[in-house]
Amino acid sequence: MTTAVVIGGGVSGLAAAHYLRKNSKFAKILVFEASSRLGGWLQSVQHPDGAVLELGPRSIRPAGRAGKNTLELVSLGALFKVQKPFSRPLISYIIKEVFQKRSTVEDESIYDFIERRMGKEITSKLVKQARLEKWSTYSFRRGVLQLVNALEESLRQTKGTEIHTNTPCSKLHFTSDGKLVVSVNGEEVKAEHVFSSIYAKNLSQIMSKDHSSLATDLRKIPAVNVVVVCVEIAGKPNLIESGFGHLLPSSEDGKLLGVVYDSCVFPQHNRQDMPSSRFTVMMGGAWYEELRGKSDQELQELAISSLFTQLGISGTVTKVKVALMKECIPQYLVGHHQLLEKIFTYIKDRDLPLSLVGSSYRGPSINDCINNARLEVERISKHYC
Ligand SMILES: Cc1cc2nc3c(=O)[nH]c(=O)nc-3n(C[C@H](O)[C@H](O)[C@H](O)COP(=O)(O)OP(=O)(O)OC[C@H]3O[C@@H](n4cnc5c(N)ncnc54)[C@H](O)[C@@H]3O)c2cc1C
Repeated sequence: MTTAVVIGGGVSGLAAAHYLRKNSKFAKILVFEASSRLGGWLQSVQHPDGAVLELGPRSIRPAGRAGKNTLELVSLGALFKVQKPFSRPLISYIIKEVFQKRSTVEDESIYDFIERRMGKEITSKLVKQARLEKWSTYSFRRGVLQLVNALEESLRQTKGTEIHTNTPCSKLHFTSDGKLVVSVNGEEVKAEHVFSSIYAKNLSQIMSKDHSSLATDLRKIPAVNVVVVCVEIAGKPNLIESGFGHLLPSSEDGKLLGVVYDSCVFPQHNRQDMPSSRFTVMMGGAWYEELRGKSDQELQELAISSLFTQLGISGTVTKVKVALMKECIPQYLVGHHQLLEKIFTYIKDRDLPLSLVGSSYRGPSINDCINNARLEVERISKHYC
């Protein structure tokens, strides 16, 4: 029985598991996630009043090949605006979802899953719709985490696929018969192939000593810390410009990266019971050192005062959420491509049964993560037919 292990249950890991289920012949697919939840940096927080605060990513671009790939994968009813060319408004598909029976098919792709839940029409038309209406970004009814939830639900319904949370992989050991042994929670799991979707530096820490030069190269991909402060204020302040948000040149105030005007982009994520506005202040990045040691209260005050000053607004703050995202955005330094070449050549020359996916390598966007997972699964599937 052939087994594939996926390390990490973020969007890359779940996408890899999805494409493995769809395109490969592995009898068993095991996803190991260190934390108690899936999604990695995708962290949508939905409040009882309907407000959605996004601590991590908040929007997905439909453009380009990778954007189209994500739309084809999900077609989950991006936003709840009425899609006129559809014979029914999108909300009706979402309502219909609640009444669908569970599938009797054992192995179902997410495309099939969504088609069953939402009807064929929507899955095939969304890509065209996005193009025609020139969407610049989209999200989901309950935030971007809905994408992860849909992937999880689909995977959990397929035979031979297991998702284990609270299961950190602590060691990767290559055996002489060309397999990989993954240590999890004191047990050893043997696999024909391993997909690592975790940050490159974290992978280097669990790599066995016989591949120390690979581990050294993986450690050369740095990632920055970002402080995210989501702020909801009562009412609708008059913004001079409405739009996606603004970025700050480092000459202005190094600590602040920019502000996203969440309510302008996705007003559907505002609370339902009263007029409100949501913003996200992003701080840190390459200038994180200036924030080190500050308490959540201090970060919150800094974010709110900067928001009010920069936009020339004021108001009663009704919700605040502060999150320190450690090593969350990999930095592709000069020479990144040569470094990747070296890393991938090392793996290829030794025929290691290891695939590297995730934001550390070939693009950090959700689209990149999903598309790169797909391409890698398609590449290795030829060896495991
Ligand atoms: C603040 C912020 C805003 C962003 N905004 C956008 C946006 O608007 N649009 C967009 O497209 N992209 C955005 N991005 C980028 C995008 O969200 C990330 O690049 C992407 O989510 C990375 O996913 P991943 O699965 O590769 O990695 P991760 O999300 O890091 O997932 C890796 C998972 O592996 C787990 N793990 C780690 N070590 C182990 C181990 N030893 N064993 C088992 N599991 C382990 C972790 O717990 C984690 O769940 C944003 C990112 C951040 C941080």
